[in-house]
Amino acid sequence: MAEKKVLQFPDGFLWGAATSAHQVEGGLNNDWTQWEKDNAEKKVKEAGSKWEKWQQEKFPEMFDVQNYISGRACDHYNLYEKDFDIAKGLGHNAHRFSIEWSRIEPEEGKFDTNEIEHYKKVLMALRERGMEPFVTLWHWTDPVWVGKMGAWENKETVKFYLRYAERMFREYKDLVKFWMPLNEPSTEASHGYLFGSQPPGIKNKLIANRAFENLMFAQKEVYKIAKSVSPDFQIGCSHFMFYIVAYKNWPWNILAAKIFDYFANRRFFKAFKNSCDFFGVQYYQPFIVNLKIGGHWWGIAENKEDKREESDLGWGYYPEGVYKVLKKAAMNGKPIYITENGLADRDDRLRPKFIKEHLVYVHKAISDGVDIRGYFYWSLLDNFEFVEMRGFWPRFGLIEIDYKTQARKIRPSALVYADIIKNNKIII
Ligand code: BGC
Repeated sequence: MAEKKVLQFPDGFLWGAATSAHQVEGGLNNDWTQWEKDNAEKKVKEAGSKWEKWQQEKFPEMFDVQNYISGRACDHYNLYEKDFDIAKGLGHNAHRFSIEWSRIEPEEGKFDTNEIEHYKKVLMALRERGMEPFVTLWHWTDPVWVGKMGAWENKETVKFYLRYAERMFREYKDLVKFWMPLNEPSTEASHGYLFGSQPPGIKNKLIANRAFENLMFAQKEVYKIAKSVSPDFQIGCSHFMFYIVAYKNWPWNILAAKIFDYFANRRFFKAFKNSCDFFGVQYYQPFIVNLKIGGHWWGIAENKEDKREESDLGWGYYPEGVYKVLKKAAMNGKPIYITENGLADRDDRLRPKFIKEHLVYVHKAISDGVDIRGYFYWSLLDNFEFVEMRGFWPRFGLIEIDYKTQARKIRPSALVYADIIKNNKIII
């Protein structure tokens, strides 16, 4: 019998899961809530051509307008203690979540002290349960008044964002050490201003570039402000890491993959260089580059023969991708936390092995000397999947949500993860 291998994680490794306010809290009023109302019907109409037959049959909810309205979501705003109890029961010693700017500052310059108090309670609830908070200050949603100003296209937004961020640093400085000021600025710039698939829905290269520059400027400035409030703060950047594969290793695809890698990854490394203490790696799936005359030249593992297994969203299953992106992110020379990694898998068919196999590769990167200090599965709860406004049907949670009753049910994969956490090791 082959000998078993024990993969031990470093002492003090942080284990948890992540969420974001708009996707779980419910009861919000921000630039996305309006966008949802304006686009829900269009999304229903598109579903028949956007998703494959098996997806349409498995998830008929995609033909219901309500699927695209975040509404009450998981009611996590009210049920956070219950959710943290479950997470603690699963052994999590850290948790990533976001503060909703539109709650804190619903009108320009008017800070809502009740909401400031609310997040204080959220933070205390985590501390009481021995879970280290990783606080995202902006996970793509803007207050309505910021949306009206043109959001990140407008440099003024940076000024307002910095004022909000500084307030948060001061309010919670005794409760928080790890901050993530901006979630995936690259996705916001591309989806919001280049592809037009999320608010403000602009499709313009120049504006996308301006939004990108403004976001990068915000990261730089917020870093300085954070350090002036407390030099002990650990400030992270967050990046959607593209694992880019050249189809069949054909030379022209290798060249295209290199160019793509520059724009999708390395450009950000440069921009983040002096504006964070740790690098937040967010990895989901590989992207295959396959140059075709007249065709779409890149996609999410679009070539069937390269797909192996797929999630409910049809994303390819490549656990070794996390190893590749970690090695790449190590070029930044900063400690790394994997701040998102997960898949949509309603029936929990792939998730148990997804978590285990990704962590085997995380361990491999650690063994190579990469300084990785924590892992956050995306997501603690099923939630409103707002990338491209897919809505509620893709289910990423360790915990299943019944959106009608708000009942919570622990998926088997959550127990597989809990076992790894408890032992701080994986045996293969
Ligand atoms: C985002 C999450 C999202 C996840 C899955 C990430 O890029 O930060 O908000 O739910 O992708 O699409």
